[in-house]
Amino acid sequence: MDGLELIDAYHVPIHCEKCSGVMVYQGVGEYKCERCGFIDYDDYGKVRCYIEKRKGATAMEVEAATGVSQRTIRRMLKDARIEVANDSQMFLRCELCGKSIRSGRYCAECEMKVHRKFEDQQRAAHLKNMQEHTHVYGSGHSDEGHRRFVHDKNQ
Ligand SMILES: [Zn+2]
Ligand SMILES: [Zn+2]
Repeated sequence: MDGLELIDAYHVPIHCEKCSGVMVYQGVGEYKCERCGFIDYDDYGKVRCYIEKRKGATAMEVEAATGVSQRTIRRMLKDARIEVANDSQMFLRCELCGKSIRSGRYCAECEMKVHRKFEDQQRAAHLKNMQEHTHVYGSGHSDEGHRRFVHDKNQ
């Protein structure tokens, strides 16, 4: 288990919508294009930003404002990705290294690592695409780089 399902679950922005560069994870759901600096958020980042501004917002309000489905929001709550009090005595453990964490599934370091790994895959896929276009390399499997994620932009 390498943690990469995290990427699927929260609609992680993979390619920059401005220049199609690789989006690099900055922490707490925020991503930055390594080429042009464009900032984007995954579902967790959107929900988190909104809740920070509107404490006590209901799942319905969050859904309306962020476009993130209530199902995903509830899942985040269940995964304890949002709203765990600072003074909570209940510690979770990172699923990858076992370190004590306050929320989520991975410690900040492991979460970074999971994302770094994914970004490497995206760069490799990018490179492979370019090589395919210039006919340096002919065939080969091609799934990762061609996957598309639905991204709601009506906010
Ligand atoms: Zn960009
Ligand atoms: Zn860890």
